[in-house]
Amino acid sequence: QKAEWAKLAHESSQSADGHHVELAANIGTPEDITAVLEYGGEGVGLYRTEFLYMGRDALPTEEEQFEAYKVVLEKMDGKPVVVRTLDIGGDKELPYLPLPHEMNPFLGYRAIRLCLDEQTIFRTQLRALLRASVYGNLKVMFPMIATVNEFRQAKAVLLDVKAELQQEGIKVSETIEIGMMVEIPSSAVMADIFAKEVDFFSIGTNDLIQYTMAADRMNERVSYLYQPYNPAILKLVQMVIDAAHKEGKWAGMCGEMAGDEVALPILLGLGLDEFSMSATSILRARSQLKQLSREQTQAAIAEIMTMATADEVEAYVREHFMTK
Ligand code: PEP
Ligand code: MG
Repeated sequence: QKAEWAKLAHESSQSADGHHVELAANIGTPEDITAVLEYGGEGVGLYRTEFLYMGRDALPTEEEQFEAYKVVLEKMDGKPVVVRTLDIGGDKELPYLPLPHEMNPFLGYRAIRLCLDEQTIFRTQLRALLRASVYGNLKVMFPMIATVNEFRQAKAVLLDVKAELQQEGIKVSETIEIGMMVEIPSSAVMADIFAKEVDFFSIGTNDLIQYTMAADRMNERVSYLYQPYNPAILKLVQMVIDAAHKEGKWAGMCGEMAGDEVALPILLGLGLDEFSMSATSILRARSQLKQLSREQTQAAIAEIMTMATADEVEAYVREHFMTK
């Protein structure tokens, strides 16, 4: 089976009835690009930049970051690269950036909240990113956006940094897309409004499920509530995809659910444009996609959306789309 999959490395990703999607990869470091290319990733759907900041004793400089972003963009050779700005806090801590103890770190001072507050850190990263933008197809994505104002503020900082660079005579790409992660239920519910202002959405199901179900993604005792196929999650995902398409924007997914074989037929039916997963899952997903009829998955959505439980959804998908 592995040998069969390997043949798909250079094929495009399409369903049996010719519907194209993008199968992209999640990466943490520039070294991860080797695997992305080997497994035929059509882009990077999530570059988790936190790793540049972790395992060291000071903030990475603008120059260090610029080098990392440039390498990734160059190696991807014009294919889309979605870079997520710093998502620290919650479960990820930095030794040199002591944050006050919080009762609920996952509901606390993290990601875009911290970046909008500590603007020096944010601006340094954005300078590095925008300088690197001329080396490839950069898309910038903000994490943990809860309100339209946060997105507007983050975008305004980016545009201000861009103007600053241009004043210094530094070239910045004019085609950078600016998008956001949808990983907080408020932003999924407000997706129709957000869609007018963003260039794209990427659904972060790891957090979206945690926040929707009020179940800590790290806590074993409540892991039974961590249900990607729960109709509540599917409805939010549907809202986000539909809202994006209504405004002519694209919607991707970069949480674990994007690489899940039970979720794939549903996401195909819902019209997800980009699936970003671990590089090692791409060929399996491409092979599965090839055997699915987009039209049939689309026709199943109405029925799936009337179901009451995650188990019902899973049983239905296995019966209709996974019988081999
Ligand atoms: C997510 O929340 O789904 C996501 C992709 O981000 P992370 O797992 O880094 O929180
Ligand atoms: Mg997240």
